Amino acid sequence: MSQPFRLAVEILGARGSTPSPGPGTLRYGGNTTCVSIRSQNGDRVIIDAGSGIRKLGRTLQAENPRPADINLFLTHFHWDHIQGLPFFSPLIQGGARVCFHAGVSPRETRARLERQMSDPFFTLDFNAAKAQCEFMQVSSAVVRCGAIAVQAFPLNHPQGAWGYRIEAGGAAVVVATDVEHGHPMLDTMLRERATGADLMIYDAQYTDAEYASRAGWGHSTASAASCVAKDAGVKQLMLSHHDPEHDDETMDRIVAQTKTLFPATVAAQEGATIFI
Ligand SMILES: [Zn+2]
Ligand SMILES: [Zn+2]
Repeated sequence: MSQPFRLAVEILGARGSTPSPGPGTLRYGGNTTCVSIRSQNGDRVIIDAGSGIRKLGRTLQAENPRPADINLFLTHFHWDHIQGLPFFSPLIQGGARVCFHAGVSPRETRARLERQMSDPFFTLDFNAAKAQCEFMQVSSAVVRCGAIAVQAFPLNHPQGAWGYRIEAGGAAVVVATDVEHGHPMLDTMLRERATGADLMIYDAQYTDAEYASRAGWGHSTASAASCVAKDAGVKQLMLSHHDPEHDDETMDRIVAQTKTLFPATVAAQEGATIFI
C-alpha cells in the first residue's frame, strides 16, 4: 500500500569519483551519483546521470515502455555524474522526451554529452540515441516540472557545479554535490538555498583527516556538512558522494561521528527511498 508523501527521494547511486562495487560496499552501494525525486502525483526529476541511472532507466521502461517526459538535471559534467547516460535505456531506445538541464548553454551541454558518446569512446553516437532530446540552461529562476519546482544555485567546485533545491507540496530537498566549503560567497548562498529544507543531500567525501591533504580537490567533509545543516536549519542531513575507499564499516563510523555533531544525520544508501 502506498503511503502519503510529498516527495519520494530514491537513491540510485551515492558513490563519488568512480564506481566501487564489491563485498565491502554492499550496503551503501558502489554506483556513482543519481537521485530520483518524485511527487505524489507521479511527476519526477532526476539529479545526475552517474552509473546509478542505468537501473532507473530499466525501472522507468518497465513501468511504461514510453516513459513520460524525463527531466534530468546535471550538477556538472565530471565523469561520475554523466557516465551512466550511455546505458540509460529511455535515452538510447527512444519513446521518451529527455530534457537535459545544466549550468552551461544548451549548445555546450549537447557538445559535452556528444563528446562522451563518440568514437572511439563508445559504440553509439549521442546523436544516434532515439529519444527526443532537449537542452535547457539553469539559472536562479525556478524551473517547473509539473508539481515539482527546481531552483539551481552555483557551488564551489573545480570547473563549476550547480546545486538544486527541489520543492513540491511544501516539502523541500536540497542536493549539494559536488561542493567544497571555504568560498565565503558561495557558502552563504548554499546556506540560504538550504534554509529549512526537509532533507539536504551533501558532498561529504572526506573525513577531516583526509581533507587535510585534499583541500582544493572540490569536496567537503561530514563535519563541514553538519555545520551547513545546523546553520541552515535543515531537518535531516544525508551524507553523500562517498569516497571509493570508504567501505561500509568506514561509512558507519562516519555517520556515528557526525550524529554527535548533528543528530539527524544519515548516509545515502543505494536502493533506499526516503519519503517526505
Ligand atoms: Zn563527483
Ligand atoms: Zn565533480
